[in-house]
Amino acid sequence: MERMKAGVFVEYKFSELVDIKHLNSLIESLGTITGIGYTIKEIKDESFVNIDHGSLCRDFYMKNESTRQRCYNDEKIVVEKMTEEKEYIIHKCKNGLAQIVVPIRIDGCYLANIFASQMFLEEPNLDFFRSQGSQFGFDEKKYIKAVKEIPVIKREHLKPIIDFLLKVAKLVSEIASRHLNELEVNKKLSESYIELSAVYQQLRGAEHQLRTQYDELEKMAYYDPLTGLPNWNFIQRELNKYDDSSLKLAIIYMDLDNFRGINNGFGHQCGDKLLRKIGETFQDYLKENCIVSRSSGDEFLILQRNVESKEDVLESINKIYNLINSRWELDEKEFFISGSIGIAIFPDDGDNFEEILRSADIALNKSKHIGKNSHIFFEKSLYDQISRRTEMEKELRNAIKNDELMLHYQPQVDIKNGKIVSLEALLRWNSKKFGWVSPYEFIKLAEDTGLIIPIGQWVLETACIQNKEWKSKGYSYDFISVNVSVTQIQNRDFLDNVKLILEQTGTKPEYLELEITESVMMETIESNLRILNELRNMGLRIALDDFGTGYSSLNYLKSLPINTLKLDKSFIDGLCSNSYEELITCEIIKLAHKMELDVTAEGVEFKNQLQSLVDKECNRIQGYYFSKPFPPEEIEFDLKKGFFDIKL
Ligand code: C2E
Ligand code: MG
Ligand code: MG
Repeated sequence: MERMKAGVFVEYKFSELVDIKHLNSLIESLGTITGIGYTIKEIKDESFVNIDHGSLCRDFYMKNESTRQRCYNDEKIVVEKMTEEKEYIIHKCKNGLAQIVVPIRIDGCYLANIFASQMFLEEPNLDFFRSQGSQFGFDEKKYIKAVKEIPVIKREHLKPIIDFLLKVAKLVSEIASRHLNELEVNKKLSESYIELSAVYQQLRGAEHQLRTQYDELEKMAYYDPLTGLPNWNFIQRELNKYDDSSLKLAIIYMDLDNFRGINNGFGHQCGDKLLRKIGETFQDYLKENCIVSRSSGDEFLILQRNVESKEDVLESINKIYNLINSRWELDEKEFFISGSIGIAIFPDDGDNFEEILRSADIALNKSKHIGKNSHIFFEKSLYDQISRRTEMEKELRNAIKNDELMLHYQPQVDIKNGKIVSLEALLRWNSKKFGWVSPYEFIKLAEDTGLIIPIGQWVLETACIQNKEWKSKGYSYDFISVNVSVTQIQNRDFLDNVKLILEQTGTKPEYLELEITESVMMETIESNLRILNELRNMGLRIALDDFGTGYSSLNYLKSLPINTLKLDKSFIDGLCSNSYEELITCEIIKLAHKMELDVTAEGVEFKNQLQSLVDKECNRIQGYYFSKPFPPEEIEFDLKKGFFDIKL
C-alpha cells in the first residue's frame, strides 16, 4: 500500500517494516507492572471507515467487564488531532479515562501510534460509572472494582511515562526506517533486475533483428540474386579458409561463348532464365566436390576442392563440357551453348584470391583467343604475354609523340595492264623498347585499349599528306587505301574527323579508299551501315577487307555500299590446287562483278596465282609478287614508273 505524507512516499505498511506482534507482546508486559496498557497500533485506513464507533464502544462495555478497553472512536479522534509538530497527545474521554498517544513516524510518514491507555489523571467520578453500569446492566460491585483498579496518574508523574513512550517510538521508528532502507535497497535491486531483464529482452529483440538483417546482408553479399548461386565474394571467403592448408584447389573460370547472341536474339529475360537453368544444372552435377558460383554476366567461377592432379580437374572439365554442349531447352526453344574455360591451381598459380583469379582470367582469355569451347590451364608464359601486353600498351600510348610510327605502302596493281591503281598504307611501329612490332599484335592492342582512335587519325592524316605530295609530283595512281577499324567507325566523331582531315590536307574524297575488315564489321552491321553510306555520299571509296574470313554473307553484300572486295590471302593460298578455294574464288569474283564490285586479291606471291586470277578476271592484285609494303621513299621508285610488268 502506498501512502503519502509531507510529500514523501512510503510504499510499505508499518506492519511490513516491524513485527508489531512481537513489539506488542514486549510492551504489553510492561502493563502488568504499571497497570497501564501499552499498545502499538498501525494506522489502517479501514480503522476509519464502516465502523460505527458509538455502537462498538457500547458493545465493548456491554460484553467486556475487563478494564482493558479502548475506544475506537477516540482512536480516530486522536489520529485526526495528531498534527506534524505534535510529539504526543493526551486524550481524555468523557468518562475521565485518559490515554497518552505518541506517533511513530518514518521518513516523515505517520504510520502508527503507541498508546498508553486506561488511566485516570484524577480520581474517577464513581457515580458516573455506577449510573453507567446500571444503564448497561453490569454488576455494580464488580464494575466499580474494575474502575477502581485503573491507575490514577498524577499529571506531574506523566512525564517519565511520556519520555518512555517517546523513546520507544524513536526506537521503533529507527528499526522500521532501517528495515525500510533494506527493503528499498532490495526493491531497487529488484527494479534494476526488472530493468535489466527488460533491457535484456530488448537486446534479444535487437539481436534477432540484427541477425535477420545480417542474414539478408550476407545473402546480398555472398549470393548472386539472379541464380541464387554463391557469388564471387563467397568463393573468395571459401578460398581464404584454405590459406594455411596443404590441399590444392582449382579455380575453373568459365565464360559462355555466344551468350550475347542469345540475349540479343531472344531477349534478356530469356537469357536470364537460361543462365538460371545452367547454374542449377552445374550445381547439381558438380556439387560433390565443387562450389559453383556466378561471378558476373555469363561467367561462372567454379571452385574445386581437394585437387591432387590435373586429371582431377580434367574430370570436372569433361563433365562441364558434357553438360554445356548438350541441347538446352527452354520455353519450347532450343539453345546450343559453348564455353571457354581458364583454370588456375591454388596455391601454385597464386596463393591469394586476387592472384589466383588473375591467373584463371589470363588462362580464360587465352582460351577465348585460341577458339571457343576450349580450356586452358594457366602457365607462367601466359602471364609473361600479359605483362608484355601491359608494357606494350604503355609504349604504344606514347608512340605518336615519340615518332615511332610510320606508314609503309604496298601497291595494288591493275591485273589487265599492271598499272598501280592504289597504294595501301600499312602501319609500322618501331618501338624503342620492343623493336619492330607486328601490326597484327599492336593493332589488336590498340583496338582493345581505344588507342586506335588517335592512332587511326594519325594514319589517315599521314596518308592524306603523303597522297598530296605524290599527287603534286604527278604520280598517276588512282587513290590511296587506308585501313580503318570498326572501333574507329563507331566513334561518334569519326565522320567529322574524316571531313576535317580531307579539308586540312586538301584531299579530294575520291583519292581515298577506306578498308574495313569484313568479319568485325558484320558483327554490328546495322549501326555501321549508316556511317558507310555517309562516307560513300561524301565521295569516298570503301573496300571490304579480308573477305572470306568472316561471315562472308553474300546476302549482306547486296546491301553494303562498297566499291571493292578484297579477297583474303587464305583463298589465294589455296589457288592452283584444284581445291575448294579455287572454286569459291571463281564464284566470288563472278558474283562481285554482277554486283558491280571490283575484286582485289590479297597476298599474291606466285606467278601461277597471278595466272589463275587473270583467268578468273580478278581486277586487282596486291602481294609480294609485285612488291612488299615499303617506306614511301622506296615505293616512289615504283610510282615513278607507275606500272608493273605483267608478263605471264
Ligand atoms: P590487311 O589490311 O589485310 O593488309 C594486308 C596484309 O597482308 C599486310 O600485313 C601486308 O603486309 C600483308 N601482305 C601483303 N601481301 C602479302 C603477301 O604476298 N604475302 C604475305 N605473307 N603477306 C602479304 P601487315 O602490314 O602486317 O598488316 C596486317 C594487318 O594489320 C592489315 O591487314 C590490317 O588489317 C592491319 N593494319 C595495318 N595497318 C593498319 C592501319 O593503319 N590501321 C588499321 N586499322 N589496321 C591496319
Ligand atoms: Mg587492308
Ligand atoms: Mg587484308
